Amino acid sequence: MNPITEFLAGLTLTQYILLYLGCFALAAAGAWIGGRTKAKVLKALVPVFALLGGMLAIGYVTINMGKDVGLGILAVWAVFSGIVIFPALWLGGKAENGKPRERSGGEICARDGHEWRTTEYACTMKCARCGKTKVKHVLETPDGKCERRCAFCGYTEAIPHAWNGCRCSRCGERRDTGHSTVGGRFSVTEDGKIALLCDVCGETVETKQLLDCPKKVILAAIETPEFQKDLPALFCGYLGRRGTEAYSRGTARALLARIPEDRIAELIRAGGIGGQSVWALAEIADDALLARLCRMEETAYAAESEQRKRENAKKEKEAREHCPDGTPHEFGEESVGHVDRGPRGDDDLAAHEYADRVCRVCRKCGYKLYRKDADK
Ligand SMILES: [Zn+2]
Ligand SMILES: [Zn+2]
Ligand SMILES: [Zn+2]
Ligand SMILES: [Zn+2]
Ligand SMILES: [Zn+2]
Repeated sequence: MNPITEFLAGLTLTQYILLYLGCFALAAAGAWIGGRTKAKVLKALVPVFALLGGMLAIGYVTINMGKDVGLGILAVWAVFSGIVIFPALWLGGKAENGKPRERSGGEICARDGHEWRTTEYACTMKCARCGKTKVKHVLETPDGKCERRCAFCGYTEAIPHAWNGCRCSRCGERRDTGHSTVGGRFSVTEDGKIALLCDVCGETVETKQLLDCPKKVILAAIETPEFQKDLPALFCGYLGRRGTEAYSRGTARALLARIPEDRIAELIRAGGIGGQSVWALAEIADDALLARLCRMEETAYAAESEQRKRENAKKEKEAREHCPDGTPHEFGEESVGHVDRGPRGDDDLAAHEYADRVCRVCRKCGYKLYRKDADK
């Protein structure tokens, strides 16, 4: 027999009962003290002593009474453990509920609000009950500064800048985004490129070849001494851009106006102006230059074609304004005219397309002046 069995075998019923009650007392004490105090771990004693109580009952039945009750052992264990555990837990619960609820200052303040008092620090208040502090500044925004400043204690905090492009319109601070180059400010770099400058801060935003710059910049730059020498080459390069978005006749004319006519002829002969550029040149040439281009072999075809275009335009304009006898038209009321819009598709023999358009007819010569805007 092991020492525990030996010990249990030597106990009387009274001793068993006393030991059992001892277990109960200890479990109850653990639950109670655990409930009352912060030592909640003591509650862990309840199941430990309940288990021991149940073991004592099992020991009494099997060892002292010598009974072999099989699985009935479990029932004995459960009942006697339960007798310890449930009343002990009930006592513990009572202890917890009965605990006096001490109210902290914070809880009172949460219910009734704080009792604010001023402190020796400006703008700082402190609660007389819970010690909480709060800060209340009187904030103003000084002119020209992106901050708010307390009029009493000098506390300051930043406010967001009022960015107008790259510069704050309130405090004048600069940033590296939002530059604007619409104003067309520029400077010429050492390697002959154009530095586009920000309208607002004057910093270089990007550097480009002259011909890649906006029209405004090209027109201004060709007036500067830096580009006089290169103007013919720039002009030739620019004509080559006809048909792209980076081309305008106005700019081409401005470049042309700065190059002597003889130099133009030289450029044509040297092949600097050829192909599409010849057409571009004819288009922007004044009548005198155009006449000269007609006489040059390299440019005659394009120049003559341009000349015919101009003559036709002139005739049309004359017909629009005057009767064949040279006196102005006398137009009557608006009426609807039937206009032949040419053959449908590419075939000249195909049926023609007609449209009704609003026009006014000259009483003298019968000329029909069609309204440009709408087909009726
Ligand atoms: Zn308070
Ligand atoms: Zn303050
Ligand atoms: Zn600012
Ligand atoms: Zn800028
Ligand atoms: Zn007429």
